[in-house]
Amino acid sequence: MGKRQPIPARIADEVLFRNRNVCCICHQPGVQIHHINGKHSDNALSNLAILCTNHHDEASAARRLTKNLRPALVRKYKLNWESRVALEQEALKRKSWKVPRDSYQIRFEIKKTVFSLSTVNDKKEVDRLLDYLYNWHLLEGQRRCILENLESIHWVLNGDQISQIAARLYQFFWEYVGPKTVSMDKSGENDLARAFDLLSGFGLHVALFDTRTDVIKKVVGAIVDFLEISIFYNRTRLVTKGLRVAKEFRKHLTEHVERKADLLKYCRIVDSGLSRIQNLKKKRNAGSLEQSNVWR
Ligand SMILES: [Zn+2]
Repeated sequence: MGKRQPIPARIADEVLFRNRNVCCICHQPGVQIHHINGKHSDNALSNLAILCTNHHDEASAARRLTKNLRPALVRKYKLNWESRVALEQEALKRKSWKVPRDSYQIRFEIKKTVFSLSTVNDKKEVDRLLDYLYNWHLLEGQRRCILENLESIHWVLNGDQISQIAARLYQFFWEYVGPKTVSMDKSGENDLARAFDLLSGFGLHVALFDTRTDVIKKVVGAIVDFLEISIFYNRTRLVTKGLRVAKEFRKHLTEHVERKADLLKYCRIVDSGLSRIQNLKKKRNAGSLEQSNVWR
């Protein structure tokens, strides 16, 4: 545990400022400073999280029960919230970096960014554009718009771009860490359904034009990630939809891949994803499911 030492005022002020004096999870005022690693002598900024009393209790209990608000999860919330606050402060400071304010401008900016994805082949540049889109999701709640635009352009992407996008898609849903901590509303559900639609498009695209093991793995991996969230949150409609997307992907592969050896290899990737999902469903029904694999 370590000896409790008072947090120096300068450090306390800094971490409060970085969190805008609200809980980094629920953004409510009335906060305490939490030592993420449990060591009360460790007053490094990276070890301090701002939490409301409820979340502070939950996080402190988590160390004993290793459930819900584990240190790694608190750290994730902290980083996410602090970077959002920093981005907003940066935008206020820099007049040259004009943040589009009205929703038409924002949607145009997102469309432009999504469309430019197809023109870049450098992995780092694709990542940078995805970071930029992610910020729009964080700052303006534009996940739906981002998903819709991605769906409308997938035909002009190549396999590398598709696998990079598929691999990062779960980040746009990372707040769904568990139904006990964060609930999922109707619009979250609809966005998950949109993500499945996008992945369905990716699947057909890949089966037709870019059947490569690594690309197929990324698309199947993303479908499995989203199925895991759907099962964890007990959304039957989404589980059905996700399973259909995976099965359709398999069907497209059998229709379009000519070499038997390749087809067997590809189908095995889809089948192992499907069997993981069947196991998760069984565990869910037995009441012993803990979401473990999505948020790596
Ligand atoms: Zn809170």
